Amino acid sequence: MRRFAAVAFDLDDTLCRHDHDVDALYRRAFEEAGVEPFGEPEELWPLLAGPPDPDDRVGYRGAGFARLAAQHGRDVDPVALAAAFEAVADESRVAYLPGATEALAAAAAAGPVGVLTNGPEDRQRAKIEALGLDDLVDAIVYAGDLPRRKPHAEPFERLTAALSVDAEETLYVGNSLSYDVAGAHNAGLRSAWLRASPDDAPGAYGPDHVVDSLAEIADLLAEGRGADGREPGGEAAATEPEESR
Ligand SMILES: [Mg+2]
Repeated sequence: MRRFAAVAFDLDDTLCRHDHDVDALYRRAFEEAGVEPFGEPEELWPLLAGPPDPDDRVGYRGAGFARLAAQHGRDVDPVALAAAFEAVADESRVAYLPGATEALAAAAAAGPVGVLTNGPEDRQRAKIEALGLDDLVDAIVYAGDLPRRKPHAEPFERLTAALSVDAEETLYVGNSLSYDVAGAHNAGLRSAWLRASPDDAPGAYGPDHVVDSLAEIADLLAEGRGADGREPGGEAAATEPEESR
């Protein structure tokens, strides 16, 4: 029996990351908005509450700029600054994370491959094109354009329908416990959590697998293939496939 019939990936900070010069971006946003600069990007990030809202990035960043402006005693239009920040951000400036292309190839050898991102298509499209992901995956779901996003089950259900696979046979790989792992489990998929640091603990989320690099995905997919009738190699023979997973 195959271990996984399909594999799908989160996009941001799982398959790829931004390649921005954040300091330059911050300065250009002030220039674009025609506002005398104040503060530093390092001051802005802690003032942003919670994860970015894919439907309202300007409002999300605007609230941060409003707090920062108050701290610096400046009377500015924070929404205009946030809009300028969005305007100068080049979403095509992305790079694959280490092991991503190998993981995509290993996934393609296992079955259909999907991407599920919480961002809307109009923002994520530039990343998909810059990475050449269209040619490497069978389905892309943009949850930012759906009524509900991860961790809701709905975008995962769209994904498995698009891939024509059962949820319980599908592995979802993502870097967020509360969005990716929780969402995959809500929809009955199995999960691999890509953690940022070996010190990070999964807590109560209980991902099915924990990896420190996408390079580990190929091994994870290869485990248990001996049961498929393939002659296990020397190393694989030493490892018993887990019975229940
Ligand atoms: Mg992510």
